[in-house]
Amino acid sequence: MSTELSINLTKNPKEKPQNGKLGFGTIFTDHMFVMDYETDKGWHSPRIEPYGPFCIEPSNMVLHYGQAIFEGIKAYRTADGKVKIFRPRSYLERMNRSAERLCIPAIDVEFVLGALKKLLSIEKDWVPSSEGTSLYIRPFIIAMDPYIGVRPSYTYRLFIILSPVGAYYPEGFKPVKIWVETKYVRAVKGGIGTAKTPGNYAASILAAEEAKAQGYTQVLWLDGIHKKYIEEVGTMNIFFKINNRLITPPLEGSILGGITRESVLHLAREWRMDVGEEPLSINEVYEAHDKGALQEIFGTGTAAVISPVSSLNWGGKVITVNNGEAGETSLKLYDEITGIQYGTKEDKYNWMEEIE
Ligand SMILES: *Cc1c(COP(=O)(O)O)cnc(C)c1O
Repeated sequence: MSTELSINLTKNPKEKPQNGKLGFGTIFTDHMFVMDYETDKGWHSPRIEPYGPFCIEPSNMVLHYGQAIFEGIKAYRTADGKVKIFRPRSYLERMNRSAERLCIPAIDVEFVLGALKKLLSIEKDWVPSSEGTSLYIRPFIIAMDPYIGVRPSYTYRLFIILSPVGAYYPEGFKPVKIWVETKYVRAVKGGIGTAKTPGNYAASILAAEEAKAQGYTQVLWLDGIHKKYIEEVGTMNIFFKINNRLITPPLEGSILGGITRESVLHLAREWRMDVGEEPLSINEVYEAHDKGALQEIFGTGTAAVISPVSSLNWGGKVITVNNGEAGETSLKLYDEITGIQYGTKEDKYNWMEEIE
């Protein structure tokens, strides 16, 4: 058993895509990081090896019961040509919180961060450089026991794979239409909504498909019990600006604590904005709109950073926000966070981690 990082480089490096041809999540770099877990050995055999398929048995527990977790992190090519990761420790610490909920053994955050940095230094040339592009980092852990009974697995595998991604807004900020979900629910307090785990996505895809068929980009989830309080969007947390107050739902056991959400709250407080993490009902949002007090709605997540909302459809009642345009707070937050990420703004809060 080894806890020393071994490195096996590919003999067949792939051709790197052109900056302009990048979409999301279809291209993967030459190498990945892998590590195994066994009950009596702990996490062991960390290795960097060529990216490629791997073997599992059809009985692998993860395929049947979904005992798995993941993360989504980004690395950026900064203005001075360096490669930096945005808040990697925060994401890896969240991975351990997800692990706890799914009965998956915790990782050593500093060790995995060291391995990620080594992987990125090998794959440095894969980090795209044109405006708005980045390298998406996908760590994930899956159960590995070949067993179809229900219990926590005894064995696990952690992977980190890398994917160069294109600009989220190639033509500038594009506000999205959001469907307020009244039929399906995704998570309730005590469930797995606080963990970044595939099950939450499995629970959401039907609602997302139905919303898409109506011309809406994503679903806004209401609380699973009263279908009254705002929770979060499919892959993003959500913020409302009402009467110059920035409001986002509190982390009370059914929504994911986004790192972008936390970064937005941090900046808004630094800017002395009036900020609240408090329950907000969908009725209050519609009332605020009717009174002319609803100024902005935007989603926050690693992929888009800030995603302004142009309209909501709640049970057929459609409201348009800020004439369908991105608001000033959305723009200011987007400029500040992406400025820090691409190194054009000062990294006052030490959010960026440099790769050698
Ligand atoms: C990942 C994710 C978010 C956004 O979190 P970030 O850390 O900001 O990327 C929000 N909601 C859900 C359900 C998620 O999986």
